Amino acid sequence: MQKKYIYVLASFFLLLSVILFGTYYQNKNNINMSYTDFINTVENKRIEQVTFTSNQNTFQATLKNDDKHIYIIPNPKTQDFTEYLLLHDITINYGKNGLISANLLLILIVLVAAGGAYYFRYRNQKSMIQNANKKTKKSSSITLKQVAGNIEAKSMLEDVISFIKEPDKYSSVGARMPKGVLLYGPPGTGKTLLAKAVAGEANVPFYAMSGSDFVQMYVGVGASRIRSLFQKAKKSEKAVIFIDEIDAIGKKRSRGASSSNDERDQTLNALLTEMSGFHENSGIIVIGATNRLDTLDEALLRPGRFDRQIEIGLPDVNSRKKILTLHAKSKPLADNVDLDALAKSTVYFSGAMLENLLNEAAIYAANEKNPVICNYHIEKAFYTVIAGAPKVDRSYISEKDLKITAYHEAGHALATKLLLPENYISKVTIIPSVTGAGGFNLTIPKDTLYQNQRQIKATIQTLLAGRIAEELIFGMDEVTTGASNDIQKASSIILDYVNKFGMDEELGLFSLSCMEYESDNKIIEKCRDLMNSLYEETKELLQNNLDLLEQITYELIEKESLNAKDIDRICA
Ligand code: ADP
Ligand code: MG
Ligand code: ZN
Repeated sequence: MQKKYIYVLASFFLLLSVILFGTYYQNKNNINMSYTDFINTVENKRIEQVTFTSNQNTFQATLKNDDKHIYIIPNPKTQDFTEYLLLHDITINYGKNGLISANLLLILIVLVAAGGAYYFRYRNQKSMIQNANKKTKKSSSITLKQVAGNIEAKSMLEDVISFIKEPDKYSSVGARMPKGVLLYGPPGTGKTLLAKAVAGEANVPFYAMSGSDFVQMYVGVGASRIRSLFQKAKKSEKAVIFIDEIDAIGKKRSRGASSSNDERDQTLNALLTEMSGFHENSGIIVIGATNRLDTLDEALLRPGRFDRQIEIGLPDVNSRKKILTLHAKSKPLADNVDLDALAKSTVYFSGAMLENLLNEAAIYAANEKNPVICNYHIEKAFYTVIAGAPKVDRSYISEKDLKITAYHEAGHALATKLLLPENYISKVTIIPSVTGAGGFNLTIPKDTLYQNQRQIKATIQTLLAGRIAEELIFGMDEVTTGASNDIQKASSIILDYVNKFGMDEELGLFSLSCMEYESDNKIIEKCRDLMNSLYEETKELLQNNLDLLEQITYELIEKESLNAKDIDRICA
């Protein structure tokens, strides 16, 4: 790639020098002569020949015994002039005279330049496509063992791996496996690593490209890169195609026609076409990765495309310990280095930051010629890594905010445990999710077709419990905006409860939802009353179980995420 730019530059300079030389050469040899001087010279019989060029305002003349100079003389443009010259025994030429005329030279230069540019552009395009494809294929020797933590993601990907290995096993029972898996989460959490591990575990070729590779100046390059990427992969029969930074091509399309981006649309369409082009159980899987799920075009997320989406979150304290242990394997640590303590003090560090931390510490140790990594090396590295991290990084979340989040999430979890024991709490965490919340509860409702009145009310209560816990502990003045999403959800459920499901005793079965406007104040009033009474009810419940709330919060701060077993143990 570099080399080609040098060629282009060299030919450009060559052309420039030809032009400069040409003009210089011409200027040096062309001498202006007045018409009267010319007539005098003719009379002295010293003119050899005359040339009429395409420039009709002048003509050129050369002298006898002087072929170094060309004289430029104003053209009188009379009929008799030619006859006059002929009568004086002067040879007349039309068009050229020995030297290539300036115009011709110019045209030639322009042609050569245009041709050259076209040629290089064409070659560049071709070789960009080829280059991009050349570097894509790698066989991956990475296994899932090299990914610490991310237990949920790994178990979801294990399905994918066994599908690539034995697609027949799935198609024989009519199972359709996802064509595309989307890994989303903050940078450095191991998305690329996981994709490589899928290829490594399934023992198939790994074709990787980044979304930014597809975004090119030239319309059509991105699309043809996509096509040749899939073509290559299809040749290997089974393969993992990895597209990193998929948001670069899959951004939401804006409505305005003027702001449409041809190149990106073409690239995205090519990707969608290719994905629908290969058979579901063929053993080819496309894995996409992005830091931002919310900016992706919905077209990418539809069934048959990236329909399996897996969040890859920041590691909690347990995962951090595992990641640190994994990366410390190849590094000699001093005996007093405590990885447990290090895991605790690296809240909101990504896997990449943890790896980086140990690596920086190792460099400090090596610079000192110290055979082992000591605590002060790690401490020094800690600041290097933090300072290098982006300002928006969550490592700056204050102790207070952390505590509020912990109580809030503990409130949700406790209310769920007490009011909806049939639901399965798969995860309670104070590690922020990509979708915005400070922490979150992952509750899986019992799989039933209908919800009864008690369950709906209890769902509303569990939503309110986060805010209630904040109020109970910190007082009404200190409640935060963290509950806005909960309140919104609770409100819409209450409205349905009253207005759609006909569950309110006083208002009965009549529903306004079939009308265009729901302007009945009575309904709004009713919803508010119901919300308030549920709020008070839940507050009492949490107050009576304050010790459990405290215990869950304590363990949440300690471990950052709890699972169903932890909650059961605490509440037993
Ligand atoms: P992403 O693609 O999500 O930005 P990467 O997969 O490129 O992150 O991770 C960068 C590096 O960070 C990896 O090569 C690995 O060394 C380290 N890393 C990140 N997450 C993990 C993890 N869960 N286990 C082990 N190493 C990790
Ligand atoms: Mg990556
Ligand atoms: Zn909440």
